[in-house]
Amino acid sequence: MKETSSTIDAGIITALKAVVGDTGWKSDADDLEPHLTEWRGLYTGSSPLLLAPANAVEAAEIIRLCAEHSLAIVPQGGNSGLTGGAIPGLDSERPEILLSASRMRQVRAIDTDNFTITVEAGMVLADVQSIAAEHDLYFPLSLAAEGSCQIGGNISTNAGGTNVLRYGNTRDLVLGLEVVLADGSLYEGLRGLRKDNTGYDLKQLFIGAEGTLGFITAATLKLFPQPQSVATAWLAVSDPADAVQLYGESRRLMGDEMVAFELMGQLAIDMVVEHIPGCRNPLDTGPVWHVLAEYSSARAQVDLDEQLTAFLGNCLDSQLVSDGVLATSESQREAFWRVRHGISEAQKKAGASIKHDVAVPVSTMPEFLLAADKLIAAALPGVRPVSFGHLGDGNLHYNLSPPVDMAAEVFLSHGPALNTLIHTLANDMGGSFSAEHGIGYLKVGELARLKSPVAMTLMRQVKGALDPQGIMNPGKVLNSAG
Ligand code: FAD
Repeated sequence: MKETSSTIDAGIITALKAVVGDTGWKSDADDLEPHLTEWRGLYTGSSPLLLAPANAVEAAEIIRLCAEHSLAIVPQGGNSGLTGGAIPGLDSERPEILLSASRMRQVRAIDTDNFTITVEAGMVLADVQSIAAEHDLYFPLSLAAEGSCQIGGNISTNAGGTNVLRYGNTRDLVLGLEVVLADGSLYEGLRGLRKDNTGYDLKQLFIGAEGTLGFITAATLKLFPQPQSVATAWLAVSDPADAVQLYGESRRLMGDEMVAFELMGQLAIDMVVEHIPGCRNPLDTGPVWHVLAEYSSARAQVDLDEQLTAFLGNCLDSQLVSDGVLATSESQREAFWRVRHGISEAQKKAGASIKHDVAVPVSTMPEFLLAADKLIAAALPGVRPVSFGHLGDGNLHYNLSPPVDMAAEVFLSHGPALNTLIHTLANDMGGSFSAEHGIGYLKVGELARLKSPVAMTLMRQVKGALDPQGIMNPGKVLNSAG
């Protein structure tokens, strides 16, 4: 067994291991290795020890010990985050202990009349969805990493995904939280209430905090009725302006029955077809912009299909849509979503990428895309935008692939300059430079550059109040000086 080096006192390590018992820790380099690299391989960090408490009491005791000895902690969920937030030892001068919720996977309660479920933080998102379905209920958070990401990680990143249009971000799905604070005390806020105006809404501080304010151990989540019917369409439009018009018309007609409206550029689809086995372009048309729109309803399937077919017929007649297909079976629907969900993986397989996760008002997305394409073409001729995202949320993954024949390292050396261009453009258009992936380690500098001084001061005050020793995920979101 290889042991990683550690400057932590051996007695403290022994005490920490004793809290979780023999099956609750890892310090072998090979065992730690998958926990030390960011999903895209952007960062590889280091840590002498991973601790996986079996329950909140153990988690609290670990954090109490760490606080006593001023040891830094990096919470980690499924390690599917895309900003390096869960990676330890990136530039810290002190060793950072990984704290994983992976052994905390119990359902604490399910209240079908209250439409809530209380689960522990290490439960994988797909399992939360399945357990809800077993009770004929629906948990709507859905993203391509749902087979590995954990609900604690989803809450800590305020994950978005493909159903935000109808159900909101993770923040909108959380009613209560249980959190171990930075001094080891336990905040017991597992309430299943939709109304509770008793002072500050403390759970909101931890949602989207990326592990910098506390360690989430359990959550009470909203559930919804299972939709009785689902209709999914794959459509071709000639440009993003037509996609925005289609979105508006579709939303006005279908109201809350529209749950997802995704936009994908042709290059994104081509990459999926080339790199993800079994995926094919649902349409023969091209090159075009692709829309994946999904609708669900408490109405009968036949009613939903009829309304949608009539709407899409009108869109084809008016040439707003140049081609389209409605999924006629669950397997066809799944095939559509496999293409959409395969884009990140396909771009990873295709080689180096520079990613942007921006938001602008939906109405200004076409203008943003035109301006962004122009800016990056001038900065790096031949660069290839792989644009896709949640158009209905105004959220675009404006990712870039290198000019053909450009070496990965040369391309990546342009990253900072291209990021500055795209983030500044989004910011200047009243948008966000980080719509759903958070700040993590990757965007700490951009937060300081683009957030207002007043907002930065408030964030530092919150951090100072909840984690005065700065032991929770140091250097993430706010730089260590902050
Ligand atoms: P991790 O990556 O392990 O951690 C993320 C952050 O949360 C870190 O800062 C970590 O310290 C903190 N954290 C984790 N667990 C806890 C805890 N219990 N308590 C306190 N802090 C904690 N994201 C979206 O929003 N929408 C998408 O559509 C989307 N699509 C994706 C597609 C792919 C293919 C991949 C790889 C990722 C995608 N992501 C998306 C990003 C990622 O899946 C989400 O950010 C997810 O919520 C992270 O969950 P995780 O359990 O993997 O967390």
